[in-house]
Amino acid sequence: MIARQPPLWQRALAEAVTEPAELRALLGLGHDPGAESAATLFPLRVPRGFVARMRPNDPNDPLLRQVLPVEAECDSQVLFSTDPLGELGLRGGDGVLQKYHGRALLIATGACAVHCRYCFRRHFPYAGENAAAGNWGAALAHLRRAPDIREVILSGGDPLSLADHKLARLADALDSIAHVQRLRIHTRQPIVLPERVDDELVVWLSRLRMRKLVVVHCNHANEIDSTVRRALRKLSACGATLLNQSVLLRGVNDSTGALVDLSEALFAAGVLPYYLHLLDPVQGAAHFDVPEARARAIMRAVTARLPGYLVPRLAREEAGRPAKTVLPVTNGRCT
Ligand SMILES: *Cc1c(COP(=O)(O)O)cnc(C)c1O
Ligand code: SF4
Repeated sequence: MIARQPPLWQRALAEAVTEPAELRALLGLGHDPGAESAATLFPLRVPRGFVARMRPNDPNDPLLRQVLPVEAECDSQVLFSTDPLGELGLRGGDGVLQKYHGRALLIATGACAVHCRYCFRRHFPYAGENAAAGNWGAALAHLRRAPDIREVILSGGDPLSLADHKLARLADALDSIAHVQRLRIHTRQPIVLPERVDDELVVWLSRLRMRKLVVVHCNHANEIDSTVRRALRKLSACGATLLNQSVLLRGVNDSTGALVDLSEALFAAGVLPYYLHLLDPVQGAAHFDVPEARARAIMRAVTARLPGYLVPRLAREEAGRPAKTVLPVTNGRCT
C-alpha cells in the first residue's frame, strides 16, 4: 500500500523558515541577537516562497520587515495593549465573534502560514476557543439560531491553515443554513503560500450555494508574483469576489508610491483594494506605527493619483462602534 502524500502546501508549510539566523543568512544578512529574543515572544514563521520575493542584502526590504523579529518588539509601550480591540470580552466561547450587524466572524484556527510582526492577534488566546480546536457544533448551533446573520466570515489565525476535508465539512454545514447568504474568507495564504489554492480547495469552494468573497491580505506590490496571480485566478474561477486588506506600516508601505503600486498590482491580479487599516496598538508593534495625520496626507495623495475604485478605505477599529471607522481623507486640512 502506498501512503497518501500530504498536499504540497502542507509540505511547504512544514518547511517554512522559523529560525531568525537562517532567514538572515538566506538574505545575506549578518547575525542579530535582538532577533532571537524577539522571536521568543512571537516565533518567526515565513514560507520559503515568500522569502524568495525579498531582495537579498537589504535589511529594509518591505517583505522582510513584515516578518523578521527585531529588538524593538521587546519594548512594552504603555499605550500598546495585548487586547487592543477589546475582543476578549466579546467572545461567546464558541468561536463566534459578532461585533457588527449581520456579520459573524468565526475564529476557525489560531494557526497562520506566516507570522506578521504587527499582528493584533499575536496575543489572542486561541486555545480558549472551541471552534479553533475543531469543535464546530456550538458555533454552528449559534449561527442557526441567529437568522439576522447573513454573512459568515472565516477568520483566525488563517482559516486556510485547516485541511480541506475540515474546511469542506464546515463550509457545507454553513451552506445548509438558509439565512447565511455569504461566506467570506479572510486569508493571507493566497499571498504568502499560493500553493494553498490547490484543486482540493477549488472543489469545496466552487460547489457552495452561498456567494463567496475572499479577502486576502497583501501590503506591498512585491508580494505579488506569477505564483500569486495564478492562485488568485483560481479563486476567482471558483466564483469568489476578491478583495484585499492591508495594514499601513512604517517602513513597508507608508508612501504614496508604494500604495499606488500596490493598488495597481492588486487590480492587475483581479483584486480590488478594500481596507487600509491603521495599525492596531498592539504591544510589540509600535515601531510600525504611522501617525493618523500622516496616514491621511498619504491617502490624499493616493486619491489624487488613482481611480476611486482603486483607493482603499483608510480605517481603524475602535472598540464598541457599530462598524470600522473610515477616516475622511479628501477634505479638511490636516497634516
Ligand atoms: C472587521 C470585522 C468584520 C467585517 O467588517 P466589514 O466592515 O464588513 O469588513 C466583522 N466582524 C468583526 C469582528 C470584524 O473585526
Ligand atoms: S496572517 Fe493575518 S492573522 Fe496571521 S499573523 Fe499575519 S496578520 Fe496575523
